[in-house]
Amino acid sequence: MEWCVSMPKVELHAHLNGSVRDSTLIELARDLGEKGIIVFSDVENVIRKDDRTLHEVFKLFDLIHILTTDHYTVTRITKEVIEDFASENVVYLELRTTPKRNDSIGMSKRSYMEAVMEGLRSVSSVDVDYAPSGLKTDTSNGTTRKKIYVRFLLSIDRRESTEAAMETVKLALEMRDLGVVGIDLSGNPIVGDWTTFLPALKFAREQGLYITLHCGEVPNQEEIKAMLDFSPQRIGHACCFGEENWRKLKSLKIPVEICLTSNIRTETISSIDIHHFADLHKAKHPLVLCTDDSGVFSTSLSREYSLASSAFGLGKTEMFQLAENAIDFIFADEGVKEDLRAIFEVATERLD
Ligand code: 5GP
Repeated sequence: MEWCVSMPKVELHAHLNGSVRDSTLIELARDLGEKGIIVFSDVENVIRKDDRTLHEVFKLFDLIHILTTDHYTVTRITKEVIEDFASENVVYLELRTTPKRNDSIGMSKRSYMEAVMEGLRSVSSVDVDYAPSGLKTDTSNGTTRKKIYVRFLLSIDRRESTEAAMETVKLALEMRDLGVVGIDLSGNPIVGDWTTFLPALKFAREQGLYITLHCGEVPNQEEIKAMLDFSPQRIGHACCFGEENWRKLKSLKIPVEICLTSNIRTETISSIDIHHFADLHKAKHPLVLCTDDSGVFSTSLSREYSLASSAFGLGKTEMFQLAENAIDFIFADEGVKEDLRAIFEVATERLD
């Protein structure tokens, strides 16, 4: 495990509100409990519960959103999440979040994202490179500090309308200079219809944004096929593919974001020994290990590597290779890819 922590890593599938520390959620819940807005003991039990089905996870997200969705807290959790990833040597993070509108507290999707950006700018434990246009934190103090590259994906929630999805895409386009590189489709997979989001996703792609889709968390083969036909740059999960779609995925070589603990905890995959990671890895299919929701599933990217190592017999060289290969699938530009390759090169010499 220690070795997995020290290795540089690339995180491409992390939801902001799923990555909040338990201690922060408990503190926020206690505050709202004292104000009489929630019953703290009920909420504490839900937060501390370990195993949840996929359905229960979405109920938990509704609760987390009650605790976190005000500008100040969004800023706080963004800062903490970035610092947590950096502390375990994640050198490139693509953080995704669903811009939220809440008229009762004067929150628009834009002001939500501004609060996220404020959190990013307030990171202090590590230097952050977050913008293609060279807007970076001050590194002029002359010391060699840890550095993390951060880029954002804006998520469309499957509960949203076509218009709301389009609003998110337009916001992403306006925030490109601040490091927004793409769009994600997520949210409860049994809710909503894929065609609702298609106009917004097509527009995003025409405008040069990258697309990743949550695909195949439930066995809806028709939707999986339609998603693969759309040719997103990456997909997340790929758990419930029928044979035909599995063949299609492999022939299209679409990179898969694999979230082992999430899939096991939500019982999307019944046991780690039959996880599709093994087949994809053996077939040299492009894939990347990710956390999904490190807070909700009590994991970290280092743990995911350690789990892959013990479950599938990967040695250090294979794990390092897996982490380094992820550079090919990031949504940032070539310059960032080159910097990351150099970081891995240095680490090869350092790690035995
Ligand atoms: P947020 O976008 O609010 O920062 O992060 C939480 C949201 O991400 C959830 O409300 C949900 O829409 C999405 N999400 C988190 N984990 C999963 C997952 O495992 N599957 C799907 N489909 N969506 C998820």
